[in-house]
Amino acid sequence: MATLELKNLHAEVVEADEKILNGVDLEVQSGEIHALMGPNGSGKSTTAKVIAGHPAYEVTEGEVILHLDDEDVPEDKQSWNLLDLEPNERAALGVFLGFQYPAEIEGVTMVNFLRQALNAKLEEREELFEDEEAEAEEEEDAGYETSPMEGPADEGEVDVAEFQQILSEKMDLLDMDEKFAHRYLNAGFSGGEKKQNEVLQAAILEPSVAVLDEIDSGLDIDRLQDVSNGINALRDEQGTGVLQITHYQRILDYVEPDHVHVMLDGEIAMSGGAELAEKLEDKGYDWVREEVYEAA
Ligand code: ADP
Ligand code: MG
Ligand code: MG
Repeated sequence: MATLELKNLHAEVVEADEKILNGVDLEVQSGEIHALMGPNGSGKSTTAKVIAGHPAYEVTEGEVILHLDDEDVPEDKQSWNLLDLEPNERAALGVFLGFQYPAEIEGVTMVNFLRQALNAKLEEREELFEDEEAEAEEEEDAGYETSPMEGPADEGEVDVAEFQQILSEKMDLLDMDEKFAHRYLNAGFSGGEKKQNEVLQAAILEPSVAVLDEIDSGLDIDRLQDVSNGINALRDEQGTGVLQITHYQRILDYVEPDHVHVMLDGEIAMSGGAELAEKLEDKGYDWVREEVYEAA
C-alpha cells in the first residue's frame, strides 16, 4: 500500500514569480481513482508537474510525501519527502508522471525504450533502498570502494527475453496488439496511440500512483474506451492509485472515480464522490465558484 500526500502545497513559476498553487491538499492511495477537475488555468497541470519535480516551478510552502507501507519496505524507507528528490528518484519510488514522449530518438523501438525505462527504474530504486551501512561494510570486506560490474553494462536487470515475457503479459492485460510495441518511436504514432502508450508504460513500470494529465484529450470514443479499460486494469490488477486530471466529465463514465476534486485558482475548492462529476456536467464550474464564494 502506498499513499501520495500533498499538504498545503504552494508553488510559483520560477521565471515569473507568479503564484499558481495556493495550498493544495490531496491524498491518493494505491487502488483509488481520484479525478482532479477544474477550468482551464486553475493549476491542474502545475500540480502534476510539481509532483514530478519540474524545474519551472518552485515550491514555496507545503509538502509532497510518499508513504510506502508494504511489508518488504524497511521501516526507515517508508516515508519519503519527494520535494527533496530528483524526478527520476520520484519515479523509481513508484510515482508515475506521464509519458515523456521521446519523439526525437531515431531507430529505437517502443519495446527497447520500455525495457530501458524499466531497467532505469529498477536500478534507481535499488540505490534508494540500499542499506548504506551494510553496503559500506561489504565494500570494506571486499577491499574495494565501488562494486564491480555484474554482467554486461548494457544488459540491465531485465534482459531482452525476460522483458518480452513482461511485455506480453502487460499487452494482454491492456488488450493491446503486440505489433504496437515493435514500432519505432518516431514512426508517427497517432494522438490516441500515444495515450495508449502512456498506459502501457504505466503497466510496465507498475507505479503505486500514476498521475495522468488529460489522457482523454482528443480521443475518439473507441480509443477513449481502450484507454479507460487500460486505466481500470492498472487499478484492478496492479493496485495502482490514479490521479486522473481532466477538464471533461466524459472519461469518468468509463473510469469511475472514488473521489472527485475541483480545483479553482490553485486550490481544491470542492471534493466529493463520482456524483460530483455529474453535477459539474450539468452546472459547470461557475456553480462551484458560486457555492464556494457564498459559503465564504
Ligand atoms: P490547468 O492545467 O488547470 O489548465 P495550469 O496548471 O497549466 O492550468 O496553469 C495554471 C496557471 O499558471 C495558468 O494561468 C498558466 O498560464 C500559469 N502557468 C503555468 N505554468 C506556467 C509557466 N511555466 N510560466 C508562466 N505561467 C504559467
Ligand atoms: Mg489548503
Ligand atoms: Mg492542464
